[in-house]
Amino acid sequence: MQPSSETAKENAAGDLNDRIQELIEANHLHLCVECGKCSAVCPMVNFYGEYVPNRCTRSVVERLRFGTDFVDDEALWYCWACKECTFFCPSGVDFQSFMTGFRLLLVSHGYREQAHFCSVCGAYLMPKKQLECLEATMNDKPNKELLYECPKCKKDKYAAVLHSLAASSRPSVRP
Ligand code: SF4
Ligand code: SF4
Repeated sequence: MQPSSETAKENAAGDLNDRIQELIEANHLHLCVECGKCSAVCPMVNFYGEYVPNRCTRSVVERLRFGTDFVDDEALWYCWACKECTFFCPSGVDFQSFMTGFRLLLVSHGYREQAHFCSVCGAYLMPKKQLECLEATMNDKPNKELLYECPKCKKDKYAAVLHSLAASSRPSVRP
């Protein structure tokens, strides 16, 4: 018998919650001592022009302690996963790695609204917030299109160009 759509939703939510807990454990979020060093070094204020506490490591870690029912909060999509907070954390909290895995989990569970995907293969690329900042920085530069394709698709594209260049420069063989 097929599970009802309500049961399927509950199962998916339960799976997401379990996987988030695994990520919390693996990246030592429970070791946070709330010292605030992560907020002091986070570059988000430079990118977005304002400091918003609930986007930062300490706040996300703190909220996760009380449950995972805020996973549709857009505040979770501002972090650039730059690793600064991870580098300076005295407790070994690896927030960068957590956030990277966390977003992949969110995307795979249908939370796609805040995510930007490769225009060729559809793989997750980065948060839309990050894309908007990069677009503004690059303005009308010709290589702006690089923002819309994943590294693998870019590699495939340039490999095809290199192959065609190599083929056209090969000397023709006379009979
Ligand atoms: S630097 Fe580490 S221990 Fe300090 S508040 Fe941030 S995550 Fe917690
Ligand atoms: S990984 Fe995210 S939260 Fe940590 S410093 Fe970088 S932008 Fe800030």
